[in-house]
Amino acid sequence: MGISFDGGFIVNKPYKLYSLEDYFKGINSEDDDLFNHFNFILNQNMIVGEEIKAYFKKMASILGDYDGGMSIFTNYVHKEKRKVSSLLNCNNLEAIVQLFEDTKIISVETNKINNYVNGLKTVGDKRQYYLMQSGESIFTELAKVVPFNDIDLVKFSKNFGLPTGYKESGLFETERSIEFISSPTLYIHLRLLEFKDIFNLFVAIKTKEPNLIKLLFSNHGDRKGIDIPENEFDEEEMYIALKSDIATELNHILINYGNNSFEFNVQTGKFSETEKIEDLFHFGYIQMKQSLINETELRKCEYCGHYFEVNHGKQRFCPPLPFRKRSSCETAYNREKNK
Ligand SMILES: [Zn+2]
Repeated sequence: MGISFDGGFIVNKPYKLYSLEDYFKGINSEDDDLFNHFNFILNQNMIVGEEIKAYFKKMASILGDYDGGMSIFTNYVHKEKRKVSSLLNCNNLEAIVQLFEDTKIISVETNKINNYVNGLKTVGDKRQYYLMQSGESIFTELAKVVPFNDIDLVKFSKNFGLPTGYKESGLFETERSIEFISSPTLYIHLRLLEFKDIFNLFVAIKTKEPNLIKLLFSNHGDRKGIDIPENEFDEEEMYIALKSDIATELNHILINYGNNSFEFNVQTGKFSETEKIEDLFHFGYIQMKQSLINETELRKCEYCGHYFEVNHGKQRFCPPLPFRKRSSCETAYNREKNK
């Protein structure tokens, strides 16, 4: 079964970066407590169902696998390395929240946010695209965003909306569009890091690049606590092991997002069963899964050098972004060529 989600996704504008203080002042919230706010976001998106402890431990090990990963992270949260590793390894949300103290909130302009009985709502300029129609590049675009780079994150959000965060809460469950109003940037960056980690596995499987296969095989073995003697396995064996790893990991994440939902659709007046999409990461993971099942081809864009999923044989560039007819990479490529 493919993806049958028929809801829209809202792009609000502009998205801005706020200090915690300015954000809470801006939305005039009585609930100006970072712990409550963060806890609410976690509950809304439940960090893929895992316990907090397991989640942050996993993040620490992913960070450890990337060159300079830990120092990028410690710089981002403005804390000392020792403090950071003790926070990542504690099993206490109130302590973990300290990691967020000196980071930012990415949000719709706060003067466009109103408080309602059941949460926050936005007013003003917004557009909607449909994931099934204009979202084909979401998973490859998410993989382009560099974790812990706020400028990259703002750029992505301008085109696709916030990938996750504080969800606009409709009064009724009949609204089929998803809108994220704000999020601590650190929360999105952690989700990006996790996404990129699986996406690397995905690229290794699609491209069969020997060095990448070797590297990931050893990293994933370490994470499972298996000490793998060098040269014990040949390339094909490692390749098969990684394929099995990605199936396990994707399955684990997708199961935690929950099942399809059977519902009465007020708009169509019919009962239906749809995939309930929680956020863009959820959608991106489903796309990765579908691409593995359907054995679609991954190709490097001739302009930006990132991978995209091929939809037709001659495609040389990343697909068009939502609300655009042509590929931005193709347009930029032609412009530079004709200079
Ligand atoms: Zn491109």
